[in-house]
Amino acid sequence: MSIKIDNLTYVYSQNTPFEKKAIDNVSLEIKDGEFVGLIGHTGSGKSTLIQHFNGLLKPASGNVYVNNIDIHSKEKPLREIRQKVGLVFQYPEHQLFEMSVYKDVAFGPTNMRLEQDEIDKRVKEAIGIVGLGEETYEKSPFELSGGQKRRVAIAGVLAMKPDVLILDEPTAGLDPRGRDEILDEISKLHEELGITVILVSHSMEDVGKYVERIIVMDEGKVRYDDIPKKVFNHIEELEKMGLGVPQVTYLMQELKNKGFLVTNEVTTIQEA
Ligand code: ADP
Repeated sequence: MSIKIDNLTYVYSQNTPFEKKAIDNVSLEIKDGEFVGLIGHTGSGKSTLIQHFNGLLKPASGNVYVNNIDIHSKEKPLREIRQKVGLVFQYPEHQLFEMSVYKDVAFGPTNMRLEQDEIDKRVKEAIGIVGLGEETYEKSPFELSGGQKRRVAIAGVLAMKPDVLILDEPTAGLDPRGRDEILDEISKLHEELGITVILVSHSMEDVGKYVERIIVMDEGKVRYDDIPKKVFNHIEELEKMGLGVPQVTYLMQELKNKGFLVTNEVTTIQEA
């Protein structure tokens, strides 16, 4: 499933003294099966942009196309788009509210009015994909660790079988180990399910070593959109935007480009 936006501009509180242009004439395309990092300093417009990808926000001007269909043209119901373009918000665990992990993950598919067998199949699959075991099914989400809660929230979106998965700051608030685990899990998910993944982050370090393409946002505009190696070449400009490229990330990318198999264990050793 591809997403294309054309000359998109979005303004908060238009025609009031608080007017704020959050997205300024942005055009880009995310192709089917890509693994993309959307990176920018806090306030650069990342969250606003991704909420256009599944129709949660409507552009002030410009168009959004999902599989070449303009999503605001009424040809396709937005409800369907929202199932196909799954959005995991920041701190998604704040939206866990059911009595058990199982029920929480089942919430989306149940709302889709699927057969019970299909719901059960999807729930078990999704919980497995995010690396949790059967022993968590009947646990209350509140008994789990921070990283586990986040996995449950991601599983809830996966259970709706999206074609595109967008994760807004999936590592926020996790310790370094939880951060690496979640990012490894997301990479695996992209490789194994082949779905399009958009990883939103303010940290080049987190995202740079995983994705195939980086889109850098600054003040509502796209500044760079390229493979990581090429984006990292703009080290000084990135630092001015508050986006440092750690040497380790740079090195790992260089090694990957040379055909080495680079895993996270390497980062740990090098950083120690
Ligand atoms: P990011 O996700 O990169 O941190 P956002 O998309 O949240 O950036 O914000 C982009 C800009 O829009 C910022 O200047 C922010 O203050 C402003 N903004 C975000 N949400 C709102 C809102 N609900 N009302 C007014 N301004 C907002």
